[in-house]
Amino acid sequence: MTQVRIRLISPITTIIVLLTSVLLSRTLMAQTKVLHIGTLLAEPGKAVTKEQTLVLKDDMITHIIDGYQPANTYGEDAELIDLKNRFVMPGLMDMHVHLQFELGPKNDSDSLKMSDQLMAMRSIMYAMRTLEAGFTTVRDAGSSAQEMYALRDAINSGWIDGPRIVAAGGVGITGGHADVSGMNPDLMEFYTGSNICDGPYDCRRATRDAIKYGADLIKITSTGGVLSDRATGTGQQMEMDELKEVVLAAKRMGRKVASHAHQEDGIIAALEAGVDSIEHGSYAGKDSIKLFKKTGAYLVPTLLAGHTVLEMAENSDFMSPAIKEKARKVGKEMQGNIERAYQAGVKIAFGTDSGVSAHGGNAYEAVLMAKAGMSNMDILKSATVSGADLLDMSDKIGTLVVGKQADIIATDSSPLDDIEQLLDIDFVMKDGKVFVNK
Ligand SMILES: [Zn+2]
Repeated sequence: MTQVRIRLISPITTIIVLLTSVLLSRTLMAQTKVLHIGTLLAEPGKAVTKEQTLVLKDDMITHIIDGYQPANTYGEDAELIDLKNRFVMPGLMDMHVHLQFELGPKNDSDSLKMSDQLMAMRSIMYAMRTLEAGFTTVRDAGSSAQEMYALRDAINSGWIDGPRIVAAGGVGITGGHADVSGMNPDLMEFYTGSNICDGPYDCRRATRDAIKYGADLIKITSTGGVLSDRATGTGQQMEMDELKEVVLAAKRMGRKVASHAHQEDGIIAALEAGVDSIEHGSYAGKDSIKLFKKTGAYLVPTLLAGHTVLEMAENSDFMSPAIKEKARKVGKEMQGNIERAYQAGVKIAFGTDSGVSAHGGNAYEAVLMAKAGMSNMDILKSATVSGADLLDMSDKIGTLVVGKQADIIATDSSPLDDIEQLLDIDFVMKDGKVFVNK
């Protein structure tokens, strides 16, 4: 009888003790920060305001008030952060990174020699470089999937620091851009994952597989790519029935689809299948621009990738002839085509393909976007408001308003006047925690 009673009481007691301690630790740890801000771009796309006080409780914005309010108005322990001489805006968002690697002469041998565990450790470093450069949210568009889901989850659990990661699961066809290439056939067989599929039903299975194992979104490659080591072009590779099945299977389970695409045939096919974003979109012409506008899909230009591979093709010799030829062609033609899409009013979300370029150098994309004719305000919008919209996270991030996450960056002077200000971020806060304060 006694035993039974103990058994009955103890779970309830445990729950009460746990609840009390959670509540206590919440109250004890609730931290108020008061930011005095000289110039605030709270919502990119709208006007800036001057001399603002922004108050946070833990990771959330609780007040935004005109003028500089004394910190102790919000509690004795409230911490004051002086950004009176700064331009402050929401944390930047990069919709296309690969945190697992960085392209260079050693890229291939690294992935053969390093353990998955060691690669994961390196990804933590790349993730931190990205955060310190002012990018508080990134969409990883393809890495070793389990490694990226683990990194995402470890950061979300607060075990390690890093940007908020939205991680894609890749689905690709045999011999296509997402498949392994340019290796010993036995090795290629070994490395071919369950994400490689052929035909609509197999691709439906691969999509469901990716979601089962943790994908936040599905990344496909409707055309060939520059860095796959085969002279298979940069035109359409996935068939319409495969594209449609992937999109349908993803949508049924509440996942978006992003498609890598260079040539226009593959951009059009992916848009017709209903993808949510086109990555690179190097040869977006009149017909695809019409479709972008009809479907409301985003273009993620990744001009920095084109810029980087062109530079590498000209100035280094680690690329194979097949890669070099594609790099020269695509790298050169990317910029003019993006300019046309922008002028025509296609929705653009900021993305760099970092991993092709060095992690932490993400903001150089903004300089290239400006060269392609985008206004500075539209660039800032693409890296905040539009990124949040593409991720379906506009209720949490992308602007600095009451109730949203405290993802905040600051520069010396206004990137609306000089976009290169983004290359040197002086203050980075993610979820209310300060990572950079120069
Ligand atoms: Zn990529």
